[in-house]
Amino acid sequence: KERQRLDKVLAHMGLGTRKEAKKLIKERKVEVNGELAQDPGLHVRPGQDRIVVNGKPVEYRQFVYLMLNKPQGVLSATGDESGQVVVDLLSPNYQSFHPFPVGRLDKDTEGLLLLTNDGHLAHRLLSPKKHVPKTYYAIVSGMVTQEDVEMFRQGVVLDDGYRTLPGCLKILRFGPESEVELTIYEGKYHQVKRMFQAVGKTVTYLKRIAMGPLTLDNTLKPGEYRELTEEEITSLR
Ligand code: URA
Repeated sequence: KERQRLDKVLAHMGLGTRKEAKKLIKERKVEVNGELAQDPGLHVRPGQDRIVVNGKPVEYRQFVYLMLNKPQGVLSATGDESGQVVVDLLSPNYQSFHPFPVGRLDKDTEGLLLLTNDGHLAHRLLSPKKHVPKTYYAIVSGMVTQEDVEMFRQGVVLDDGYRTLPGCLKILRFGPESEVELTIYEGKYHQVKRMFQAVGKTVTYLKRIAMGPLTLDNTLKPGEYRELTEEEITSLR
């Protein structure tokens, strides 16, 4: 395994900034394999060398996997943009892993967003060839009918001429304001909104409830998040 600077490993594990990690070492609070570490530049083998800070063993791990119930009004981005971004919702000990959102939800869309620093996993989930299913709950102004279900099953033509792959539309409540669930197997820009636009209706509320094998934990309020369980992580591989 690759060796890394001790101060870098400590910062990655959420024990502070690089500067704060150096300070911990200078204050003689860090031990490596039972010996006092005095040099922030000491090279350690993450996951193998036993690191103890203030008497507490530091559990090393490379990746974090978080399920966020994205609230409305927050951008699916990592930073630098004007406005609040999803990563701002995370506590510093998760931010230190530099997680990023896997795919995007619109600013006004709520629901399931996976955040991770596992680039390979993100890449696999986002690969257009994989056709990872995504399920949305939507409130639509206008009557959604069986004809729309059939149209979606065949694929609809969007405003730019693109014909979508078949989508699976379920009507949960029929009326002038409809409640539906839609599963799609691709992720074009504003896809769900544009699919309804293609059949003359407007999405007024949109929430993602599933992505691949993951379903949104309904105990998470908008803005709340939790780590994926081992089973959930395995199901994504
Ligand atoms: N489709 C949309 O229109 N918006 C989203 O945020 C996700 C899918």
